[in-house]
Amino acid sequence: MPRKRYCRYFHHVVQRREPNRWPELEEDKLLIILKFFDVRLRTLPGDQPDVYERYFLIAERDIWVDFSHMKHQLSSSSSSYSYTQIICESLSSMGVPQHEHPAIVHKLFRFVEAAVSPDLPIIVGVSDTTIFRNSNFIPASKSSIDGLQQVRLDSRITTHTPTCAICLEDFAALLVDHRQQQEALITRLPCRHHYHLHCIVQCLEINHLCPMCRYPMPTQD
Ligand SMILES: [Zn+2]
Ligand SMILES: [Zn+2]
Repeated sequence: MPRKRYCRYFHHVVQRREPNRWPELEEDKLLIILKFFDVRLRTLPGDQPDVYERYFLIAERDIWVDFSHMKHQLSSSSSSYSYTQIICESLSSMGVPQHEHPAIVHKLFRFVEAAVSPDLPIIVGVSDTTIFRNSNFIPASKSSIDGLQQVRLDSRITTHTPTCAICLEDFAALLVDHRQQQEALITRLPCRHHYHLHCIVQCLEINHLCPMCRYPMPTQD
């Protein structure tokens, strides 16, 4: 069966118990664990689950921070530079390419801002993923991707669709980010499903169907 190959990085952030990691006895210490994985994934047609052919941990780093200090720095955005530097230096030392750093740091900072306690470590997983896909996926046409409709994110949308089904991030986070600026935009497909622009573009470049309802986008210009 002919296969196509493409590569991309995925990031995810969770706060959870880690085996063999003991909580710091000192109060207010938060452990941030950075993990970098080498992943090989094969996607199968239809609704069959993806097959992981490889899932290796390449590198791992522990970073201890003062929880309330970090939260305070993040809330006054101009002074969070030192934390950005700490995280980026660690990512570089693990081999995570620089162009991925801003998105990872952004995701981690939003997570720390929302965290209520430092009792469990925050784990940041970065996967260097090679995806092999069946060639029976048909990408959407370039003109249909270029012409995707952008709409203003408002509470009607967030009530109906609270998260982006592709990256699982809350749309509400965009409203917080954009509070000082003008307005947050979100992409709406003709089937009225909403996604982040960069998320849905990456999907449509692989397959032309809406990930939620399989609505077909045009495949020919
Ligand atoms: Zn998204
Ligand atoms: Zn849809």
